[in-house]
Amino acid sequence: MGNTAQQRPDAERLGLGGTGIAQRLALVHRRIAEAACRAGRDPASITLVAVSKGVEAARIREALQCGQRIFGENRVRELVLKAVELGARTAGGPGGGEPGPAAVEWHMIGHLQRNKVRQVVPHIAMLHSLDSLPLAEELDRHLQRLGKRLDVLVEVNTSGEPTKFGVAPDGAAELVRCAARLASLRVVGLMTIGPNTTDVEAIRRAFRLLRELLARIRDDGLAGPDFAHLSMGMSGDFELAIQEGATFVRIGTAIFGARA
Ligand SMILES: *Cc1c(COP(=O)(O)O)cnc(C)c1O
Repeated sequence: MGNTAQQRPDAERLGLGGTGIAQRLALVHRRIAEAACRAGRDPASITLVAVSKGVEAARIREALQCGQRIFGENRVRELVLKAVELGARTAGGPGGGEPGPAAVEWHMIGHLQRNKVRQVVPHIAMLHSLDSLPLAEELDRHLQRLGKRLDVLVEVNTSGEPTKFGVAPDGAAELVRCAARLASLRVVGLMTIGPNTTDVEAIRRAFRLLRELLARIRDDGLAGPDFAHLSMGMSGDFELAIQEGATFVRIGTAIFGARA
C-alpha cells in the first residue's frame, strides 16, 4: 500500500469540496459572529450545537479535531452508539462535569420516548426536547438513580404545524413550572423549530414568540435563575434566530453537507 492511498484528495485538503468540514465550520462560526455583532450581542453568548444525525463517526472526529465539542442527535440508538464510540462528558454527576481536552458533549434534540429514557440518560449533557410532564417524571426517576442532574429545554411548537413535536405556546409555562419542581432536572430554557417556510417574517414571529415566552415565564418566577436559554435556528434560519435572541443554534447541513 503506497502513501497516496492514505492521502485525502486535493480538493478536500484545500477546502474546495469533498467533506471540507473545517472550512464549513469556520464559515458557520464567522456567520454566527457576524449575526451576533449585527444584533449587538456577544458572539460568546451563542453556543453551536453541531447536528451530526446521519453523519458517520469519522466525519464527527474531523469536526472534533477542529475544536467542535457539542453534537446534537435526534435518535437514541444513533446517539448512544456514537457516544460509546467517541466518548462523552455528561453533566452534573458526582465528580463529573470536568471537561478534559477532548471532552465531547451529546445533546438530544429530537423527540424522546419515555421507554428510551433509561438508554439515553447516561450519555447526554442536555435534552432540548422536553415535551410532556410524564417524560419529565421518567427522566427525573432515572437521573435520581444515577445521582445526576440534567439540563433540559422545553420544546414549544411555535408554528402550530401538526407534524412538529413540542407543547403549544400556552402550555409552556405549566410544563416549565412542573418540570422545575423535579429535583434532577434543571430547566434552563425553551427550544423551538422554525416553521418550514421561506416566509422570513413567519420564521421571525416564531422565534420572537419563543423569546417572549421565555421572558414571561422568567418574570412570573416559574423557573429558577438558570432559565435563560433559547435553542432556535438551524442551517436555513440561524442568523434570524440569533437576531431574535438564540443562545443555542443547532446546525447540521451547513457543517456536514446534505444528508443522504
Ligand atoms: C436536523 C435538525 C437540526 C439541523 O438541521 P439542519 O437544517 O441540517 O441544520 C436542528 N434541529 C433539529 C431538532 C433537527 O432535527
